[in-house]
Amino acid sequence: MIRYLKRGKDVQVRAEDDAKVRATVEGIIKAVEARGDSAVRDFSRQFDNWDPADFRLSIDEIEKARKSLSAREIEDISFAQTQVRNFAQIQRDSMKDVEVETFPGVVLGHRNIPVNAVGCYIPGGKYPLLASAHMSVLTAKVAGVKRVVATAPPYQGAPHPAIVTAMSMAGADEILVLGGVQAVVAMAVGTQSIAPVDMLVGPGNMYVAEAKRQLYGRVGIDLFAGPTETLVIADETADGEMCAVDLLGQAEHGPTSPAILLTTSEQLARDTMAEIERQLAILPTAAIASVSWAEYGEVIVCDTQEEMLQKADELAFEHVQVITRDPDYFLQHMTNYGGLFLGARTNVSFGDKVIGTNHTLPTNRNARYTGGLWVGKFLKTCTYQKVLTDEASALMGEYCSRLCHMENFAGHGEQANLRVRRYGTRADVP
Ligand code: NAD
Repeated sequence: MIRYLKRGKDVQVRAEDDAKVRATVEGIIKAVEARGDSAVRDFSRQFDNWDPADFRLSIDEIEKARKSLSAREIEDISFAQTQVRNFAQIQRDSMKDVEVETFPGVVLGHRNIPVNAVGCYIPGGKYPLLASAHMSVLTAKVAGVKRVVATAPPYQGAPHPAIVTAMSMAGADEILVLGGVQAVVAMAVGTQSIAPVDMLVGPGNMYVAEAKRQLYGRVGIDLFAGPTETLVIADETADGEMCAVDLLGQAEHGPTSPAILLTTSEQLARDTMAEIERQLAILPTAAIASVSWAEYGEVIVCDTQEEMLQKADELAFEHVQVITRDPDYFLQHMTNYGGLFLGARTNVSFGDKVIGTNHTLPTNRNARYTGGLWVGKFLKTCTYQKVLTDEASALMGEYCSRLCHMENFAGHGEQANLRVRRYGTRADVP
């Protein structure tokens, strides 16, 4: 049986918040569609107090950003990008094109074709999230995307040099300094100054995530990657300090980021709650983390490991950190999660910043049907077919003709019948 020592915000309240966000986003999309650049500029002024001569950075501005970083900073970005690139390349190499004779004379295949133009949103409202540049831009480039547009909001009134540098080092073809819904819509539908892309990727706050959701269909999207969520699964082998650090480390993302502890140890649950209060008193980002912890934080005590597994799969959280005697149990049995962080030696921050797996992961229970961003999301697996012999064409034609008849599809049937007449030996086909 599961017991809550602390509960998060009511689902009903969240639904009302979501409805407000939906309406705001709808309004911005309509305005940008109708007025293009001038609407983009209005919203940029309104939400970000940002109104530069050009949202696009020149080569000189990109170079200036790079020169303002220290050699150490460049090396740190480069190290992280190398890890992300290496893993993405291995994943790319694992995606083989296929061509096979499935029936005598019948050849079926698929090709993995990169999307032509992608818009990458790099969040930067509260923190300059330069790691998202590696995750989106670099992965798109490894996939073979020709045109990658990268955009991030201004940070404290200016382009953030480390974000710009990370975008450029990752291989972005165009770099914009533009935030929020207006950036996402401009890339999706195009404006007088921004050519439209075919697909939008990258995480963002609830406005950005909702904008991608509403634009889906007109453009492709990677996944619904909204406000960060973290679940820590721990047993009595874990300690309160580490559980608290791992919960607050993600709660600091934003005031709507849920952090949940799932444990079989009531003692650990109580230790962790006390630790969280102690750490919040000294954490520099406590202003945000304390709000998300107070409103969305949860502490759940279960009787067994199986119960923790069941609850974790039901939550389908973005990040799942496992600190138990046998973390591999969750690797073997868990089915719904964005990213799994197994054992005390690793943690979500490694995944977010440096270790090489992609940090753009599904939120809002979307892990029930998708994993995170990866090189495969930029590739369209497109099938093709050939029929090499007259015999195969006539045989498929006969089957196809009868199947079309069952569906009352006369035109489809005629396509098949023509092949039977042309390539077969039967003269009795209508
Ligand atoms: P952001 O860049 O996503 O959003 C900032 C923009 O929001 C601003 O530029 C502004 O234009 C817009 N905005 C702000 N208030 C608005 C309002 N009232 N109406 C309309 N637009 C408004 O940066 P952020 O806010 O710091 O959020 C980053 C988010 O990304 C966090 O929630 C974080 O958890 C999430 N994230 C998710 C993942 C993932 O994989 N799921 C990964 C990293 C980050």
